[in-house]
Amino acid sequence: MTTTTTPGSVRTDFPILAQRVRGNPLIYLDNAATTQKPEAVLRALVDFYRTINSNIGRGYYELSRKATDSYERARSVAQGWLNAQHEDEIVFTRGTTDGLNLLADTLGRQQVGPGDQVLVTGMEHNSNLLPWRRLCERSGAELVVVPTDDRGQLRLSDFIRAIESHPRTRLVGCTHVSNVLGTVAPVAELASEAHRRGAIVVVDGAQAAAHRPIDVRGLDVDFYCFSGHKVYGPMGSGVLYGRRELLHDLPPYQVGGGTVKGVSRTAPVSYVPVPARLEAGTPDIAAAVGLAAALDYVRELGWDLVRRQDEALVHAALAALDEVPGARVIGDPRIDPNGIVSFVIDGVHPYDVCGHLDQHGIMVRSGVHCASTFLDDLGLLGTVRLSFAVYNTVEEVERLGEVLATVRPGNWSREHPAARFL
Ligand code: PMP
Repeated sequence: MTTTTTPGSVRTDFPILAQRVRGNPLIYLDNAATTQKPEAVLRALVDFYRTINSNIGRGYYELSRKATDSYERARSVAQGWLNAQHEDEIVFTRGTTDGLNLLADTLGRQQVGPGDQVLVTGMEHNSNLLPWRRLCERSGAELVVVPTDDRGQLRLSDFIRAIESHPRTRLVGCTHVSNVLGTVAPVAELASEAHRRGAIVVVDGAQAAAHRPIDVRGLDVDFYCFSGHKVYGPMGSGVLYGRRELLHDLPPYQVGGGTVKGVSRTAPVSYVPVPARLEAGTPDIAAAVGLAAALDYVRELGWDLVRRQDEALVHAALAALDEVPGARVIGDPRIDPNGIVSFVIDGVHPYDVCGHLDQHGIMVRSGVHCASTFLDDLGLLGTVRLSFAVYNTVEEVERLGEVLATVRPGNWSREHPAARFL
């Protein structure tokens, strides 16, 4: 048995992990879907509701001032997390999907017209595909997809070829880390190539935020979105970064309370500056506060620990899968591990694998991972996806290997071998 790299204190920070499932210790390996929350985040949420709860920016009284301060402090933590230059380049959202839809509806409508082109990569999650697809349908623009190679890697040369043959490319949408394979896109190079040709770059950072330091200035991207719940933060929290020159010119997304300077029955509506202009209504203030607690938590753990964990767990998973008859890893997660390993087992439907693991208290995701077009390109019905977090241990991965050795074709493999959903 290998010694774990996870400090015991990290594990005990996450109360949910102490429970048992059908008599087995809970082994949670679906962190790309959502991560568990440490005590520090749970405490921040409860403390907010117990001691501060009130609305922001509206009340001329003590609690409202405290709520506003907590919310704006969270904005500055998010700014630091992304190395954004200005605090007003940070907009709170409900998550990555919300941020990307906001961009398609504001930036997209502003920048993309009939005959223009929007480029996305072949490995996009539906959340960074469908908003752009709908924008193109509505505006008469063309959606161009740059496919990955057969290992699921985006090659810069393919991207350059695509953008050169589509000279009316106004926007480029790209995931930083694939949620299916964990592969990394060459975002900085891609942004520089896109900018040289006058295109705006939007990055989906949903799978990057918990696994690598993000430097929006170093990457030189225009927009970057991530979800709080995938970085140990609360559901309903998310961040949209936008380069000031572009972000501040965006029209409101939703209109309503908090977005206007004052409204009369007759005069045209005049809107407040960004970020408030893009945060209509009462935001999830507690979620933003909880997200800041989560980002502080990871910063204190340190990126070295995160990286060591990702490397150790990915290597342990590859070793375990090597011993499983018929198992085949898709892509090469060793190149730059982000805690994701996707695989298939010959003759066994991914749902049967998932169901078998579930019987033993091991939770993984199987299916198309909201990226069926990418799975189509890879010629796969679906995969089983392991996705790790800082609290997972090599022992858990070894246990996974033992249980996988006993998996057999079940109902899905026998009766619905080609069934596919989600
Ligand atoms: N993009 C990627 C790459 C993702 O993995 C996910 C979540 N599975 C999303 C976008 C959407 O994130 P959310 O559901 O938090 O909006």
